[in-house]
Amino acid sequence: MSRWLVEQLHDDFQLGLKADKVHYDSETEHQRLVVFENRTFGRVLTLDNVVQTTEKDEFIYHEMLAHLPILAHGAARKVLIIGGGDGGMLEEVLKHRGVEKVTQVEIDAGVIDFSKQYLASICKDAYDDPRLDLVIADGVDFVASCAERYDVAIVDSTDPIGPGEVLFTDTFYGKAKNCLAPGGILVTQNGVPFLQGDELTNTMRAFRALFADAACYLATVPTYAGGPMAFGWGTDDPAKRQMSLEVLEQRFREAGIATRYYNPAVHQAAFALPTYIAEMVG
Ligand code: SAM
Repeated sequence: MSRWLVEQLHDDFQLGLKADKVHYDSETEHQRLVVFENRTFGRVLTLDNVVQTTEKDEFIYHEMLAHLPILAHGAARKVLIIGGGDGGMLEEVLKHRGVEKVTQVEIDAGVIDFSKQYLASICKDAYDDPRLDLVIADGVDFVASCAERYDVAIVDSTDPIGPGEVLFTDTFYGKAKNCLAPGGILVTQNGVPFLQGDELTNTMRAFRALFADAACYLATVPTYAGGPMAFGWGTDDPAKRQMSLEVLEQRFREAGIATRYYNPAVHQAAFALPTYIAEMVG
């Protein structure tokens, strides 16, 4: 029998999804993990009652956090992913043949084990790729002691509640910047500005103090309800955000990647902010 599962993320706004079947409901070492079937979204993963990803709309979030910085960079060989246990980000990053090494730092091995079994349509065989260096650790500890330098760092975290909270702090952002190679780009998930404005404004304040170019870009993901979602963008090379459409189109063609949301025109347009978001960012 189906039942409604209601996300617990905001004080006065809720997202409800009808669960036709609950595939899995258990506690990992760090979080409560549930996967259920929804007619519109396919399999839905929640952690501590917050939607993380779904089979049907994951491509939007993963494509925009992976391809946009990698194609803007133009020669990314080493990529760092913090979080991202469902494997969708890893799968997108590994599509780039020029990427030689991906270090993924995930706090919860349970999410990875589980995703390989129940969300194979999202992670595919990414966790078997020899370019992957998988580290089970808190991202904040990893960046504090990381000696390697990355061309692109992607923070694919949960919301700033529970284990993900540290990934939204100035300390974390400062240490994450230290993991970047010259010209490297840091991108972060910063929630839905209409409902979670503080996530974006705090990140932008921290990025402005750290980077020569601090910005944010947007994408609309149906299960992250409340309007477009914001992604933080930090780099010391402002030219990375000013690539011409021709250059992006050439890089995208050469990458030979099939996408369903990302394309070079969307890449450029994603940095255009509606006035209410531009005013928050300041
Ligand atoms: N797309 C998702 C969203 O925005 O809702 C994020 C998905 S991904 C499942 C988030 C991952 O971040 C989870 O697997 C979680 O275990 C991981 N995570 C949370 N806090 C972390 C930390 N401090 N260090 C490393 N990984 C962390």
